[in-house]
Amino acid sequence: MKRRLVILGGGESGVGTALLAKAKKYDVFVSDKGKILDKYKKVLKHNEIEWEEGKHSEDKILNANVVMKSPGIPDSVPIMVRLITAKVPVVSEIEFASQFTDATIVGITGSNGKTTTASLTYHLLKQELDVGLAGNIGDSFAKQVLEYDFKNYVLEISSFQLDNIVYFKPKIAVITNITPDHLDRYDNKFENYIASKFRIAMNQTRSDYLIYDADDKVIVEHLKRNPIQSTMLPFSLSRVIENGAYYKNKNIIITIDNQKIIMPTTNLTLEGKHNIKNAMAASTVAHLLKIRKQTIRESLENFQGVEHRLEHVLKINKVHYINDSKATNVNATYYALESMEAPTVWIVGGQDKGNNYSELYPYVNEKVKAIICLGIDNSKIIDAFNGMVDIMVETQFMSEAVKIAYKIAEPGDNVLLSPACASFDLFENYEDRGRQFKAAVRNL
Ligand code: ADP
Repeated sequence: MKRRLVILGGGESGVGTALLAKAKKYDVFVSDKGKILDKYKKVLKHNEIEWEEGKHSEDKILNANVVMKSPGIPDSVPIMVRLITAKVPVVSEIEFASQFTDATIVGITGSNGKTTTASLTYHLLKQELDVGLAGNIGDSFAKQVLEYDFKNYVLEISSFQLDNIVYFKPKIAVITNITPDHLDRYDNKFENYIASKFRIAMNQTRSDYLIYDADDKVIVEHLKRNPIQSTMLPFSLSRVIENGAYYKNKNIIITIDNQKIIMPTTNLTLEGKHNIKNAMAASTVAHLLKIRKQTIRESLENFQGVEHRLEHVLKINKVHYINDSKATNVNATYYALESMEAPTVWIVGGQDKGNNYSELYPYVNEKVKAIICLGIDNSKIIDAFNGMVDIMVETQFMSEAVKIAYKIAEPGDNVLLSPACASFDLFENYEDRGRQFKAAVRNL
């Protein structure tokens, strides 16, 4: 008899998994409590895959041999509680799809820097290897396994994807950093969230690699208390690393099994210390996978960055406009402010996630000349930075925020959108917020 796979969530990962599972002769059913986008419905119909929306019909779900759940669905929703009680195995897309490929997998996780590091790693590898980029980016991993069957994959992996793996084992795992985020999904326990991130290495053996930020105390402490099998390749901005990567005199120095390469960083388009870290992680992967030194060097220099991450928009009257809409937490904004090399008009605010702004104080004192609060409730930001800058303004419109910034900024200054908050109070998502910023800048 055919095995029955039920997919909860009819988005990119759900529909991709449905296609792969159908090709692998599963009996597939897709169920979404919300609405399924028309483009996905078309694919499901065209491939004769049964689906429903607006509900979860238990009689069609609880009889599954295995369930693939979209990362957006928490374990606390009623259908998940029923499945867990009934002991139906629930896996994530990366778990399901990785059974059907022998490719070398590079899995990248962390609280910040996943997309940037994954995109940069892909950019380095694709010069010489047959490689796909998937995870939270672009076409789903499952669909790529089905349609392209690449020999290598770079996967951007969230903790939610890792929560439902069983055998998933990347040859190379990267943990960019760990700071508190999404704690609502982890019983408000930071420990649980940290443990979830480390699941990326849980099936690794000595012949697999874990690349991680050795300056990140959370990571280092966790590793001390919970040793793992993987071969460790740490990277550091602050100290010499004998096996792994470090940064000295504006060079990235990578040593793996006594094979050393040196990469200058003076011509990188990416700015900021955090991006040096991302570049160290990506280049270490490339060096491991035997990409030539010259290729790594050139590709590091011509990588243009990712939209909404410290993205240069325009220079108007010698003022730089920078879109960092993806900075949805304080840590991301910390690195944005750190990388500012001129007086900065800072647009900040949105939906607060229990933010503590105090770690930003040194940079705000040093670099920020005006704060423009862009949110429905700005009281926390106003309280946090009161008296620290000369000008503080509130607005609920992006176009107005940009116009005010334009009036305040003088030649040589930066105007930085780096909200440190979620976008959902005033925008559809961070992409919408970033696009509105760019449109407003272009309209000046
Ligand atoms: P993610 O995919 O993990 O959300 P992104 O690459 O999209 O990460 O970057 C999210 C935000 O974090 C951006 O504002 C970016 O400038 C910032 N950022 C990027 N890399 C790092 C890093 N290594 N550490 C801290 N912040 C970072």
